[in-house]
Amino acid sequence: MRIAVAKETLVDESRVALVPDVVAKLVKQGLEVEVETGAGEKSFFFDKAYEEAGAKIISDNDSFWRETDVLLKIGVLQDSEVEKLKEGGIVITFLNPLGNPTIVQRLAERKITAFSMEMIPRTSRAQVMDALSSQANIGGYKAVLLASAALPKFFPMLTTAAGTIKPAKVLVMGAGVAGLQAIATARRLGAIVEAFDIRPEVKEQVQSLGAKFVDVTLKESTVAEGGYAKEISEQAKQHTREVLTQHVAASDIVITTAQVPGKKAPLLVTKEMVDQMKPGSVIVDMAAIQGGNCECTEAGKDVEWNGVTIIGPVNLPGTMQVHASELYAKNISALLKLMVKDGELNLNFEDDIISGACVTHDGEIRNQRVKDALAVAVGS
Ligand code: NAD
Repeated sequence: MRIAVAKETLVDESRVALVPDVVAKLVKQGLEVEVETGAGEKSFFFDKAYEEAGAKIISDNDSFWRETDVLLKIGVLQDSEVEKLKEGGIVITFLNPLGNPTIVQRLAERKITAFSMEMIPRTSRAQVMDALSSQANIGGYKAVLLASAALPKFFPMLTTAAGTIKPAKVLVMGAGVAGLQAIATARRLGAIVEAFDIRPEVKEQVQSLGAKFVDVTLKESTVAEGGYAKEISEQAKQHTREVLTQHVAASDIVITTAQVPGKKAPLLVTKEMVDQMKPGSVIVDMAAIQGGNCECTEAGKDVEWNGVTIIGPVNLPGTMQVHASELYAKNISALLKLMVKDGELNLNFEDDIISGACVTHDGEIRNQRVKDALAVAVGS
């Protein structure tokens, strides 16, 4: 069975799906691994290291895509890439199937078996394959570093001969994987941290990291199947914004991470709320690519609004590509282990991880949420 690592084509994608150390382990398990020339270059993993790990470097892009049994990527698939895949082959990547269901439809038409790393169930057994978490963790850390670099102030309290510096105040909105890492990182840098989430059960996790939980009691259910947040009503969003206004105004830094899978990111920070922040304050909006949690956010840009800097990063894990690729490679190899027996492909759809992560197989879209998203996208 041939497994191949594709070179990412998007300019801002510097990660790679497998790193040499993980390739060496897969080769030892009897798998044949091919790597597209230069696939790991932007992550500082060079062709020579892959060769030494036992992989074959392939420079003919067309035959590489056409002949591979299992193609591994990390970034979303381009339309042209779907057409190049081998019919009946397998592709594993972050597919964004809810945000781009038409590409899933095309994969099904081409009889490609597609695994979406976003769809790995969030269960204890699947933790080792949970690429959403491995990458969100990196994002949460880097968001705080970006904010601290843009803030014209110290983070920690300092007692100096010239007087005492007050610690920075950080507010984290959305305390999932990224938010919890942002809290931990801001605390390590010495800031005073508050955090908020619509899922009340994260209160204890927030407090255990030394942050204060901002309680916004909502009179509706906020948790959906799988432990994810639900999209809340406009009334609840309005109430949330009212409670948070004073907290935003008092913060030097606001890190927003709130997301609802398959939906536009909830608007948590309005322009009016930004107006009340002190000049020099910084917002890092980790939901920029999903429309943003802040009304001033522009994805991929730093925006100035009344003296406040709003940073809208689109791929934070990609800025820490060495560790992001290493962790993703471990996630992928754990998934491959479930899919391969004695060096041969063995897809067991009774397994909840295989079944949950596989979005197309045998010409069919297998996931109901993707089918629903497709129906909306094509307007039926
Ligand atoms: P996510 O990226 O989907 O969302 C980030 C956070 O935004 C979440 O905490 C969510 O509650 C919050 N949010 C959504 N709407 C909001 C709003 N209007 N206001 C404020 N906050 C809002 O989340 P994630 O980090 O991927 O985690 C999703 C779920 O999966 C969580 O329940 C998490 O605990 C769980 N999880 C489980 C495992 C596991 O068991 N193996 C691993 C990772 C995550």
